[in-house]
Amino acid sequence: MSAEFPIAYIEPVFRPPSEAHSLILPVTNGCSWNHCTFCEMYTQPQKKFRARDEAEVLEEIRRAGQQLIVQRVFLADGDALVLPTRRLLNILTAIREHMPEVQRVSSYCLPRNLRKKSVSELKELADAGLKMAYVGCESGDDEVLARVNKGETYESSLSALEKLGEAGISRSVMILNGLGGTLLSAQHADNSARLMNAAQPEFLSTLVVSFPTGEQRFRQGFAEFQALGQHELFVEVERLLQGLELRDTVFRSDHASNYLVLKGNLGADKARLLAQVRQAIEQPQAARLRQEWQRGL
Ligand code: SF4
Repeated sequence: MSAEFPIAYIEPVFRPPSEAHSLILPVTNGCSWNHCTFCEMYTQPQKKFRARDEAEVLEEIRRAGQQLIVQRVFLADGDALVLPTRRLLNILTAIREHMPEVQRVSSYCLPRNLRKKSVSELKELADAGLKMAYVGCESGDDEVLARVNKGETYESSLSALEKLGEAGISRSVMILNGLGGTLLSAQHADNSARLMNAAQPEFLSTLVVSFPTGEQRFRQGFAEFQALGQHELFVEVERLLQGLELRDTVFRSDHASNYLVLKGNLGADKARLLAQVRQAIEQPQAARLRQEWQRGL
């Protein structure tokens, strides 16, 4: 008889696409903010935010070490870095002790999680194994951020990204295409590019905003919102790419919700990526776009 899986999950559990082969280790449940009006990841009652019991988490790490061989661990849920540095260090130390083959630990991170964490604390976390933080900036535009109740600003986002960078933790940033609707599309693209240029993250990806369970909640804070159509989304992506002055960032725009798949390094591949978007704008039939049914919404 096989042993029971060593980790208890409260569904639904989310992880970035690039953590598909990682062991997902919940150290918190839900999201400590949980007010973004476009996000329904943690709105079900069982996902109400709480830190998980430390002893329970440490015991799961010990059992996982006995049963599994993994090279990557993703600390869930929505913002594991909300935990105090001391507790995170205990978790990272236990992972190192019980799962010595782990090469990378990562987690989602809200900029607000780092307000009270110093660069030297973050360096301690990096030294203990935390190698990557996924930061959902969504936009660099303060008006867009306010309308969607992100609880962050250009400045708070930049400050967090800079701290992580200084500590040697790789930053994987998400920007949400279409989040400003037709009204704020241009400033959303321009200020998101400005934020990325200032932060120079190691990874940047974009995803098209979508509302699988309806727009009602979103419209409460953004009544004039008009979703971008396919053509307008490409124009916004083009404007974002034109504004990006990145030195060495892996860029991905290949989530299932995107019509057009873009992959490359910025800056080396900027001209090629821009040409792909231009083709999608001018000749959408020739640009090998995903069909609606392939977008996986
Ligand atoms: S901070 Fe992230 S997980 Fe939390 S509500 Fe906003 S988008 Fe969702």
